[in-house]
Amino acid sequence: MLIPAKVPTSEIIRPAFEDMGVRLYLKRLDRINELVSGNKFFKLKYNLEEARRQGKSTLLTFGGAFSNHIYATAAAAKQGGFECIGIIRGEETKPLNPTLQYAEDAGMRLHYISREEYRKKKQDQFLESLREKFGAFFLIPEGGTNSLAIKGAAEILGNEDEDFTHVTSSVGTGGTLAGLAKRIQPNQHLLGFSSLKGEFIHGEISELLDKFHIKPKGELTIVDNYHFGGYGKFQPELIEFIRKFHYLHQIPLDPVYTGKMMYGVIEMIKQGFFPKGSRILAIHTGGLQGIAGFNSRFNASLPSE
Ligand SMILES: *Cc1c(COP(=O)(O)O)cnc(C)c1O
Repeated sequence: MLIPAKVPTSEIIRPAFEDMGVRLYLKRLDRINELVSGNKFFKLKYNLEEARRQGKSTLLTFGGAFSNHIYATAAAAKQGGFECIGIIRGEETKPLNPTLQYAEDAGMRLHYISREEYRKKKQDQFLESLREKFGAFFLIPEGGTNSLAIKGAAEILGNEDEDFTHVTSSVGTGGTLAGLAKRIQPNQHLLGFSSLKGEFIHGEISELLDKFHIKPKGELTIVDNYHFGGYGKFQPELIEFIRKFHYLHQIPLDPVYTGKMMYGVIEMIKQGFFPKGSRILAIHTGGLQGIAGFNSRFNASLPSE
């Protein structure tokens, strides 16, 4: 249904890494599917299969106006032949931003709700009112994290990745990290870089692991000091870093997730966090669709390819 491309793993070569005796690689999930990019491909894959198995022809999900998840769900629904509805937080603004314009063009019906209403997104009564309004649908939660998403995210790592000593990923809801945690080997150390501000993320991840009975075989660390002010926030040095990274390696990073993670990984290499001989696999979780909207909102010119 969703067809994956073979993704490259590229080595990121810099004299500073050689000095520290470590090697850094980037697994390019941003290349997995032209439209259902990055980790969202893996998170949606089994949800679409389950929707089909249940005979549901419509998907419904939630997200913010610039959400990678909304974009990916619209694209996946189109590729899989589903109808879909996007419940968007906040008021409609015209013209639509590039994310919502794409979603609408792909056939997603956009329905806007206030921030207060949006907080009810998990309540049965609210979901029931959506069923009355839209008819039967297969629900994919905000951010796409559920057991099927975690099952899919576990497939991000393959047998060929077992020789890496460290695996790193960015963290939003933690669904992707939970999938990776399921798959890592005893000799591997998994690091999740939070894009959100606050220590709550540590509790959130352990709750998620408990809920889905995931006991990682290797070590797991949540890094919470590279959020650059919080979710969707940024500072000039992050933008500068993303531009320089692209200049040096011709690889685009997004300012919400992958830019923050790579900034953190490279800082930690320089600080000597990774022992000599480490082979680090960073996961490029995608998110490049958001760059057009980011550039127009902040009058920036980040590269998206
Ligand atoms: C959604 C997203 C994440 C966060 O994934 P979670 O499973 O919610 O933690 C990370 N990176 C990118 C590029 C994303 O789009």
